[in-house]
Amino acid sequence: MRIEQDLKLGFKDVLFRPKRSTLKSRSQVELTRDFTFKHSGRQWAGVPIIAANMDSVGSFEMAASLAKHGVMTAVHKHYTVADWAEFVKNNDTSVLNNAMVSTGTSEADFQKTKDIMALTDDLIFICIDIANGYSEHLVEYVEKVRTEFPDKVISAGNVVTGDMVEELILAGADIVKVGIGPGSVCTTRVKTGVGYPQLSAIIECADAAHGLGGRIIGDGGCSCAGDVSKAFGGGADFVMLGGMLAGHEESNGEIIEKDGQTFMKFYGMSSQSAMDKHSGGVAKYRAAEGKTVLLPYRGPVDNTIQDIMGGVRSTCTYVGAAQLKELTKRATFIRVQEQENNVYGKE
Ligand code: 5GP
Repeated sequence: MRIEQDLKLGFKDVLFRPKRSTLKSRSQVELTRDFTFKHSGRQWAGVPIIAANMDSVGSFEMAASLAKHGVMTAVHKHYTVADWAEFVKNNDTSVLNNAMVSTGTSEADFQKTKDIMALTDDLIFICIDIANGYSEHLVEYVEKVRTEFPDKVISAGNVVTGDMVEELILAGADIVKVGIGPGSVCTTRVKTGVGYPQLSAIIECADAAHGLGGRIIGDGGCSCAGDVSKAFGGGADFVMLGGMLAGHEESNGEIIEKDGQTFMKFYGMSSQSAMDKHSGGVAKYRAAEGKTVLLPYRGPVDNTIQDIMGGVRSTCTYVGAAQLKELTKRATFIRVQEQENNVYGKE
């Protein structure tokens, strides 16, 4: 047994230190980023925020709405090939260029990914997603997907340490998804005692990825726009959001009326609810590692995404970053023991 003494930080442990800036207004801040990906050589430009591949967040409807803002959606893996065929018929190129096709790592998943990708050349992102990215099986699967799709952008995860980020990039991933345990409906830390504070995971994994020309997605744990900025400030190239984009018209969750109020169901992809729906219940050998919650229904996602983007722009003006790309260079985090003032309740 070994104990690491280095301090590891979550979003709640820091704030940005403001810096002198020549920017007069947040309208001067450019949130669009241009990437050329390491293995595929593909170029992509957009706002590097991604709706999570959860079945009450990353829907086709979400992809269509967020693409208008240049924002991406990792479409969840529970749509059939026929659903995708219907979807690609009615969508313009920008929606498809901003959609990730999510997949697990089974033989059936591989065949399904091939069938979906064959529908159109406009789909360019594949998101290989398993809860525990430390499995040797993931590395082999990434190699296999890279061989099959040399010119597609491949994201793989989830991991939280630099060694595994390097291994996945060397196996063929353009992007590595980072986060174990921080999610809003995740109970992994409670059920297993495993995890890593998300800001430190991002800082360490970004360093490892960038050294090899790879990219990372900071996935999970953002509860407000300030957290999204902190993730970018820590070095995340992309930030993935579940809970912050759940509960909306486009999230496609089950609507529930209770005491005259409208709610939407939101649950973790390893929760009892998800396993009941997609796998016929929780298998005997495993425990559910996700929660089910009811969120007040929030209407269309437009206002929310604009609010998030406005918050990130504002962070950039406070630290003098004219482009999102500069945020990490301009970021000095201060360690704090308080965040917001909750005297009149929580925002
Ligand atoms: P959020 O933005 O809601 O804090 O986090 C979203 C992320 O939580 C997802 O992208 C995914 O990585 C993670 N997640 C989703 N469902 C589950 C679950 O059931 N268990 C765990 N451990 N993580 C989950």
